[in-house]
Amino acid sequence: MQGVKEKGQEKARVCSANISQKEMQAIIFRAHGGLDRLELAEMTVPAIRPTEVLVEVRACALNHLDLWTLQGLPGLKIEMPHILGNDIAGIITEVGSEVGSVRIGDPVILAPGLSCGHCAQCLSGQDNLCPAYDIIGHRSNGGLAQYVKIAGTNAFPLPNSLSFTEAAAVPLTFLTAWHMLITRANLQPGEDVLILAAGSGVGSAAIQIAKLIGARVISTAGNKEKLDLARRLGADEVINHYKEKVSEVVKRLTNRKGVEVVVEHVGSATWDESTRSLATNGRLVTCGATTGYEARIDLRHLFYRQLTLCGSMMGNKAELLRVLKFFKDGKLRLVVDRVFPLEKAHEAFTRMQSSQHFGKIVVEASTGRK
Ligand SMILES: [Zn+2]
Repeated sequence: MQGVKEKGQEKARVCSANISQKEMQAIIFRAHGGLDRLELAEMTVPAIRPTEVLVEVRACALNHLDLWTLQGLPGLKIEMPHILGNDIAGIITEVGSEVGSVRIGDPVILAPGLSCGHCAQCLSGQDNLCPAYDIIGHRSNGGLAQYVKIAGTNAFPLPNSLSFTEAAAVPLTFLTAWHMLITRANLQPGEDVLILAAGSGVGSAAIQIAKLIGARVISTAGNKEKLDLARRLGADEVINHYKEKVSEVVKRLTNRKGVEVVVEHVGSATWDESTRSLATNGRLVTCGATTGYEARIDLRHLFYRQLTLCGSMMGNKAELLRVLKFFKDGKLRLVVDRVFPLEKAHEAFTRMQSSQHFGKIVVEASTGRK
């Protein structure tokens, strides 16, 4: 351990001519509201603590969480001005004296989950259950900037097979989908799974992970392009949810049985059809409610048919490491919609908000250094 610490201290000395206190460009907002609150501004490069690293951001993917953070959520108190951005890849430029796992110059992908590191949940590896859990860019400053700081334990080596742009598109969606299917719903080979909204980040990740496990995938989308993409990602069956009643098609495709697992992240608009689609002993796992929070269930179905309803939020660091392995050998792949430069982040958000996108929207930051 001593050796590790000395190594860390050496690194800290290497970067003693550090760049904190200098200025960087960032996309910020000074008050909650709509996209008109976003502005490109000069901010001070964050100073790191001994357990942290400073990362020169190369790419940052957008998420709907950014929009909710911008709009403001009940109970959400953040310091202004605030920098958005949860999904980050870049290069280590400063290393705190107590960090031994990465070096200056290392290309990294950042695990977005922030946690205390010393509670029972963190120590058992379930950091996403930590009472202090947060996502970078939500309460703390994020990656829509030229630099971002984070705990050294959140910086993972970038798989060679991924560019910075691709890597930035991985963490939130793939970690969420993995935790939902594998950890929460315990999806098994040969089971039928219904995955809603194939065109969404979580949907497109879940289709691939379910196929990796050896499940049969039925997926939904609202237009032909998205249904075609679902098939290209591996979906065995697709349903246009505007033209067909999802639970009826599911029953037909499964010989009246229903699916063992439903991946739900839409909310009020789809809840009834999702629960009706479940087989006896089926599991519904949900990570979002973009169309509304209110849902009802007939309790007779819940107990007679022995259904399980699971909530899911992000995933732990070990799960992200495991997910990254499958990108190394090409078994999982990214769907990147479009790439925007940092100064056009407003345009990127407008595209995401209008749901025109297909796959992840990524913003590339540049310090002008190569
Ligand atoms: Zn903790």
